[in-house]
Amino acid sequence: MIITILQLYPRDMNIYGDNGNVQVLRRRLEWYGYTPKVIEYNVGDTLPKQPDIIIGGGGQDSGQEKIHADLLKIGPTLKQWADDGVPMLMVCGLYQLFGHSFKTLNNLVLEGISILDVTTYGTNERLIGNIVTQSDSFGEIIGYENHSGQTFLGPNAQPFAIVVRGAGNNSKDGHEGALYKNVIGTYLHGSILPKNPKVADFLIKTAAKRRYGSFSPDLIDDMFADLARQVARERPR
Ligand code: GLN
Repeated sequence: MIITILQLYPRDMNIYGDNGNVQVLRRRLEWYGYTPKVIEYNVGDTLPKQPDIIIGGGGQDSGQEKIHADLLKIGPTLKQWADDGVPMLMVCGLYQLFGHSFKTLNNLVLEGISILDVTTYGTNERLIGNIVTQSDSFGEIIGYENHSGQTFLGPNAQPFAIVVRGAGNNSKDGHEGALYKNVIGTYLHGSILPKNPKVADFLIKTAAKRRYGSFSPDLIDDMFADLARQVARERPR
């Protein structure tokens, strides 16, 4: 049973360990008895027909500028998939571009693909450090953030989590990330999935159910993830 992971722009959007998200999905899928197939999509490539999970990472503003035109081209297809319920995880730079727009400090407006009802503004303040949050669906989510763009939710976006320690979307409202259907946008690097297996399993379960109708996996021993969480939770900001 194959599960196809589409990784968006790994060449330009993949910092602070974001590639670890793909490795975690690959390994957990194997443990659950699936055959993971990872397709890397970079600028100018052709999209696969029916990906099961879509993953995207962070990057500098310059990386976002590089992929921006291409993202606008594939945006309608991604939006269709999001509307159809394809699970997606977009971190930091791609989270910002999954929103309506990102206005950089140089007043360059990078239009986004509006899958998430969020808008981002470049600021002089860098929100950086370890972060602990609490989400309704996943409990405690722990990671690392590093961004100067600040993101604000519109009326149709729900936050992914509420910040317990750290900044999250911006320095004001205590929201972290955003949700739309099965799309998660988040500022959490670290990478996020190794320390937060519940989020990984949400992506896998949603994908497996959509593709094969059910998901009844063996239990995975997450002892090492739990230990990593313990350490990360105690780290200074
Ligand atoms: N360029 C964005 C910012 O600094 C994204 C950074 C990132 O992806 N880590 O806000």
